[in-house]
Amino acid sequence: MARVPEERARMVSGHPQPEDEPDAPLLRPQTLGDFIGQRAVCDNLRVFVTAARSRVEALDHVLLSGPPGLGKTTLAQIVARELGVNFRATSGPMIVRAGDLAAILTNLERRDVLFIDEIHRLPVQVEEVLYAAMEDFQLDLIIGEGPAARSVRIELHPFTLVGATTRTGLLTTPLRDRFGIPLRLDYYDPADLERIVRRGARVLGVDITDTGATEIARRARGTPRVAGRLLRRVRDFAAVADTWPIDAAIADSALERLEVDTLGLDALDRRYLRCIADHYGGGPVGVDTLAAALSEQRDTLEEVVEPFLLQRGLLQRTLRGRLLSEAGFRHLGLKTPARPAGQLDLLGGESDGI
Ligand code: ADP
Repeated sequence: MARVPEERARMVSGHPQPEDEPDAPLLRPQTLGDFIGQRAVCDNLRVFVTAARSRVEALDHVLLSGPPGLGKTTLAQIVARELGVNFRATSGPMIVRAGDLAAILTNLERRDVLFIDEIHRLPVQVEEVLYAAMEDFQLDLIIGEGPAARSVRIELHPFTLVGATTRTGLLTTPLRDRFGIPLRLDYYDPADLERIVRRGARVLGVDITDTGATEIARRARGTPRVAGRLLRRVRDFAAVADTWPIDAAIADSALERLEVDTLGLDALDRRYLRCIADHYGGGPVGVDTLAAALSEQRDTLEEVVEPFLLQRGLLQRTLRGRLLSEAGFRHLGLKTPARPAGQLDLLGGESDGI
């Protein structure tokens, strides 16, 4: 996913941000038992990991997909730990040439886990080399150029590739087909997120009540990374005011000042919704028009603003553009205008060209 500058500064972004760094290792669950939520994914992984470990074989390749901040990297690390093998991490954009991949793969020990984040951003020529490595644990490389070029084959130790992607739709079919274990992570439900906030508070030594945890979880957009970040910012407000423990009122006033509203929407989300409501009668309106009206990049809207609004049912994508839903109007405190029939030709799936 292309990173856009606006995303880096957002309190509610699922992407990692520099301010997350100090506490990130502390907040990461270390075992499958420690990992809260995503029950089906964890149950499946537990079976496959146990089977691979008892056969002393490399685990089949795993593809983890889902929005940023849901725990893909954390799960990959857990898999390596539970298998009792080394964990190597890199990302699609970091592997520029086939030689870069070769250097990583030849350094892996038997059954190691190689984690490639943003695997949909691997360059094509690297991806092609990866196919044989995944399938036959062999590297076929061309050394040299022109008439002097020759191909060499290198045998690799069996390894497990754990690929992570925010957009399965952007993965080529040959690559997707080589993952024996595809797993999809979804936004966390409020109860799981609340447990994650309470666990985070325990780990960071923050005094919080159950209602305080509920309030933070409610606004964390179903995303553990956001929950952790909101918890740390609310902790700062509580520390400055010296008001402990953190209860719902303290969490609410801190998040209010951070402009994160009761659904977890921030100023950019609300500006987007208001633009559709105020200037386009609730839509439908094309995303390019919206981008121009808001002076934002189309990518920003499609990748970091719309997914959560769609997921919460505040926005709908139709054949003729973006449409504010009834819930969207309600959230802005507005009445839904009467609409002519025929506008609900909704689209599903991933981002499209509309
Ligand atoms: P991704 O790779 O999907 O972007 P990460 O694995 O880096 O997400 O997780 C983001 C943050 O959320 C990390 O700090 C991690 O500790 C925390 N986290 C993720 N999933 C969970 C979970 N199930 N329970 C507790 N914390 C979690």
